[in-house]
Amino acid sequence: MKKMLFIFNPRSGKAQIKNKLMEILDIFAKSGYELIVHVTQGPRDATQAAATLGKSVDLVVCSGGDGTLNETINGLMELEKIPILGYIPAGSTNDFATSLKISRNMITAAQTVVSGVPYPIDIGCFCRERHFVYIAAFGAFTEVAYLTSQDFKNVLGHQAYFMEGMKSLTSIKSYVLRVECDSVVLEGDFIFGMITNTISVGGFKGLVAQDVALNDGEFEVLLIRTPKTPLDFTNIINYMFLKEEPNEYVHKLRTSCIKIFPEEPIDWVLDGEFGGSRREVEIFNLKKQIKILRNPQKKQ
Ligand SMILES: [Mg+2]
Repeated sequence: MKKMLFIFNPRSGKAQIKNKLMEILDIFAKSGYELIVHVTQGPRDATQAAATLGKSVDLVVCSGGDGTLNETINGLMELEKIPILGYIPAGSTNDFATSLKISRNMITAAQTVVSGVPYPIDIGCFCRERHFVYIAAFGAFTEVAYLTSQDFKNVLGHQAYFMEGMKSLTSIKSYVLRVECDSVVLEGDFIFGMITNTISVGGFKGLVAQDVALNDGEFEVLLIRTPKTPLDFTNIINYMFLKEEPNEYVHKLRTSCIKIFPEEPIDWVLDGEFGGSRREVEIFNLKKQIKILRNPQKKQ
């Protein structure tokens, strides 16, 4: 009998799994899976469950928000042989589900788990100790993600990010750093940086190119220098959201490896969760490291 480990966060997205759980488990059982069900009990629990119980199964399915997905993947990455992953989004943002075109309807997503095809995705390795699926970031807009409480996220969804983001604009912090990325070296004051493998960030599409490949072995990098005048700031916003002409404050790169050396430790966010305060950061792309189930894509 095929074995499945099903890890779910009961609190994600207004506890929306509560009314769907029976049906989801029934879909799995009808497809012939013997089930191990793990209900997460707190931070890092999904990681531990995936790392310990994931050894003996054919398939690991997680349900929750981006944070639960991140934790599960961090657990899987500890395994010698990584089982295939299924994902049932239940959080308030589900950025990565959007990129993968996995349905936000939990029942539809559960059906995708049993009938989908494995799709290899790149995984980011952060400082050789943690992993991320779709974003590692620091600075202006990112603090929002983890400073916004779960309840607030649940009630307001994307608006919570947006509102908190607006607040953080008024108290924008500048970081002195050196960036090494292939042959490019950038130095100076920056307010924001993100290393991504996604088409949607914080619920907003359009911050990164739509043609981004989830398994090309490369990240999209966006770095923004500290504006000196209000006009600079307006130009940056226009460039990011309205796609106006590039300007000297915005750097867009594509790379498989990047190193960032700040003068002072910087707080990082990985997949929307706090990733620690770091002095030196090295990020590299582990190409096609995990296979995730999704619907077969129609040929273009
Ligand atoms: Mg990529």
